[in-house]
Amino acid sequence: MMTEPERPSDFIRDVVAEDIRAAKYEKIVTRFPPEPNGYLHIGHAKSICLNFGIAREFVGICNIRMDDTNPAKEEAEYVESIMTDVRWLIEGWADNHLGGAPFYASDYFDKFYEYAVDLIRQGKAYVCDMTPEETDAYRRLGKASGFRDRSVEENLDLFARMKAGEFPDGARTLRAKIDVNAANVWLRDPVLYRIRHASHHRTGDKWCIYPMYDWAHTLSDYIEGITHSICTLEFEVHRSLYDWILDALELPEPRPHQYEFARLNLTYSVMSKRKLVQLVNEKLVNGWDDPRMLTISGLRRRGVTASVLRAFAYNIGITKYPSMTDMALLEHTMRDEFNRTATRRLAVLRPIKVVLTNYPEGKTEQLEAINNPEDANAGTRKIPFGRELYIERNDFMETPPPKYFRLKPGGEVRLKYAYIIKCDEVVKDGAGNVIERRCTVDLDSKSGGPTAGRKVKGTIHWVSAADAIDAEVRLYDRLFSVPEPDSGGDFKSFINSGSLEVVNAKCELALAGARPEERYQFERLGYFALDPDSTGEKQIWNRTITLRDTWAKEAKKS
Ligand code: ATP
Ligand code: MG
Repeated sequence: MMTEPERPSDFIRDVVAEDIRAAKYEKIVTRFPPEPNGYLHIGHAKSICLNFGIAREFVGICNIRMDDTNPAKEEAEYVESIMTDVRWLIEGWADNHLGGAPFYASDYFDKFYEYAVDLIRQGKAYVCDMTPEETDAYRRLGKASGFRDRSVEENLDLFARMKAGEFPDGARTLRAKIDVNAANVWLRDPVLYRIRHASHHRTGDKWCIYPMYDWAHTLSDYIEGITHSICTLEFEVHRSLYDWILDALELPEPRPHQYEFARLNLTYSVMSKRKLVQLVNEKLVNGWDDPRMLTISGLRRRGVTASVLRAFAYNIGITKYPSMTDMALLEHTMRDEFNRTATRRLAVLRPIKVVLTNYPEGKTEQLEAINNPEDANAGTRKIPFGRELYIERNDFMETPPPKYFRLKPGGEVRLKYAYIIKCDEVVKDGAGNVIERRCTVDLDSKSGGPTAGRKVKGTIHWVSAADAIDAEVRLYDRLFSVPEPDSGGDFKSFINSGSLEVVNAKCELALAGARPEERYQFERLGYFALDPDSTGEKQIWNRTITLRDTWAKEAKKS
């Protein structure tokens, strides 16, 4: 069973445990540092669960820090959505380990500047007049810039004038003076500041120089007293620069250390915000929280719970090796939880009519049904039964193949929690379509009746027509139809055209009192949750996941 493990074990947690044993830090402080340029996705959830998980397990805190050093891109909407998503994911689990929320890297711009001045004073940084292209080319070649040996005084003067706005975009940069021949290209005098005459969403027009990622990130970690700065593998090559910055500024201990882990990649999905934003902007999905999107808000809307995402994050674990996680594992984690927690109900997604000719007209019986066979405390409920019923369209065939054990002319089937019925005749419209199945019911065959134990091969679900409530049901499926939409060609050409189907369903009466926070299993169909678009008049349901993995079968076939 995939319940949430209390404390997973991995190489990063081993480091933290060892640091605690060695009393290296007073308190463990991690951070989650999103760039507010999109909504969070399930990959971020992995990082949030890791950073907050460590804070929770080692009695520390985790800061949320908006990495908003890039002026043109950030938007307040994204900051808000990020906070909502993180809070939702950690609520009741690690929320009392939330440190600063949120911090903004842009709040440290003054400090970053002072540290840069300090670095120049120590002769460890210089203003360079080469263009970005020249800088790149020289770095690739391991060639020194002609401005490398400027005096401290000249560098201080030029840097102050860069800040004062005297030079146009791209005219000059501030570069660390490290080693133009270093084996690690990141150490070849990397750029620390560039000129951008652009408004920032929080600092306005105060700045026209903006710090580069490594400078801002390392110093933000230091300023906040981060102990373990955990990031994805792409940043492994940045680590020497991270350490160089802390050393060069001679910052007193305790210092943060950077650790890298493999990012989450999932089959049948794209993960990067750059691609997700295309899906949104080109209206290929209905916004960031479209239930097919693997954004945290999309998954939430689809009905996936925070505990499912946490269990998933814990079960995939933390490693150093890039890998691809099977979407089936995420879906399995959903089924595993919902099987234990979901309230069972009857609903018919594509209703067709059955009339029980020997059942009295106007009569309604209340039959007992089990709310959750996995949970003895969930109890039972009454479901109304009458002469006219709805059954699922594919639970009836007029001319069935052999071994079809659902309803067919002359055949018998059991109605879940109710009677055995037999189809005697079909009524057709002018065009020859079956519009009604006329059946007789074995009135002795319900639970406790004389023929209750009679065996028939099929059992189907149903809803009493007189008592049914109408609902819109949105049947969601995987957004992409191929395992690796990202591996070549245009990922948008692999969108699964069957990823959303909307049907008008008939639901049992008890669903009138359905609650948004509760999860439901519509028996034989899948797990469902109410969509926030629901109103008092009309319920809208989202299928979170089917009961069984239909994709595995497809994959085997092909
Ligand atoms: P994307 O590539 O999707 O745009 P990003 O890395 O640019 O993501 P950030 O906002 O910079 O997004 O990420 C915030 C944090 O989340 C970082 O620490 C990053 O390492 C982590 N993160 C991002 N994507 C993943 C992923 N797929 N798996 C695990 N962690 C991730
Ligand atoms: Mg990023």
